[in-house]
Amino acid sequence: MAVKKTINIARELAEPFRVSNGGKFRLKDFDPGDTLGLTSEDKPRAKEALALGIETLAELQDKLYAQDHWGVLLIFQAMDAAGKDGAIKHVMSGVNPQGCEVNSFKAPSAEDLDHDYLWRCMKVLPNRGHIGIFNRSYYEETLVVRVHPEYLVKQKLPPKLVGKSIWQDRFQDIRGFERYLTRNGIIVRKFFLHVSKKEQKRRFLDRIENPEKNWKFSSTDVAEREHWDDYMAAYEDMIQNTATSDSPWYVVPADNKWFTRVVVAAAVIDALASLDLAYPKVGPDKLKELDAARRLLLSKK
Ligand code: ATP
Ligand code: MG
Repeated sequence: MAVKKTINIARELAEPFRVSNGGKFRLKDFDPGDTLGLTSEDKPRAKEALALGIETLAELQDKLYAQDHWGVLLIFQAMDAAGKDGAIKHVMSGVNPQGCEVNSFKAPSAEDLDHDYLWRCMKVLPNRGHIGIFNRSYYEETLVVRVHPEYLVKQKLPPKLVGKSIWQDRFQDIRGFERYLTRNGIIVRKFFLHVSKKEQKRRFLDRIENPEKNWKFSSTDVAEREHWDDYMAAYEDMIQNTATSDSPWYVVPADNKWFTRVVVAAAVIDALASLDLAYPKVGPDKLKELDAARRLLLSKK
């Protein structure tokens, strides 16, 4: 299938899940089990579409790398077991590792806490020509830190800066930071993998029952379920305040992994296709050099 057609399909597929005007966003309007009417019988076709999407993504990344103007930052946020790791692994499986880096952000270290919260993320922003993936990000500063105020205490902020407006202040700074990146040619796309509480429970039980998945299980993840409603409220507020047309959120249904991956791939294709990617054209001097080299190669054994 022509790349152009794949790009058009990707745009259509990602569109229902894109939030570019936070003001109107309500989490309840998004169903974690949504598959746009596709059933498990369509799974093989979805997998084929994903494979095709991954090929297209590789072609676009090749141009991104060669052109060396734009950078792409993809941010993944989700509750535990929503499938962040799997989505990243599958969607990026076809891209050239030289032009792609994944960074995971866990609880901040002592050194991290000795800095402003964007510091550790800024250090690993993608180069031009690269795709940078953040597995969790500075958005945790408005999620886990909001749900657990004791983390805020550990941040050593001057007390007079920790007031009622701290979350609004953070949203404003994040919007400003992402606008700054966008104006510098580093585009930002954000993914909330939206899993239901019921499906999360099923996946945790699977991690307990299945010896190959035991390593993934953590009791603290189960304890975090107690705060489910607080997390959902924090996610909703975060998306309302930080979804913009320049750096939209995608609220991706995450109860069916095959569907999640197709939507993420589609959104990444759409993002890359929105850039004016092209291989650099060489000038007359370079053409002369190529011609001379061709002649030299052909004239000898
Ligand atoms: P997985 O469980 O799939 O391996 P993960 O992303 O959940 O991946 P974990 O090692 O379980 O990784 O833990 C990351 C933890 O770090 C999360 O609970 C997250 O909320 C926490 N974290 C991330 N950023 C911050 C932050 N700025 N402040 C406090 N906690 C944070
Ligand atoms: Mg975890």
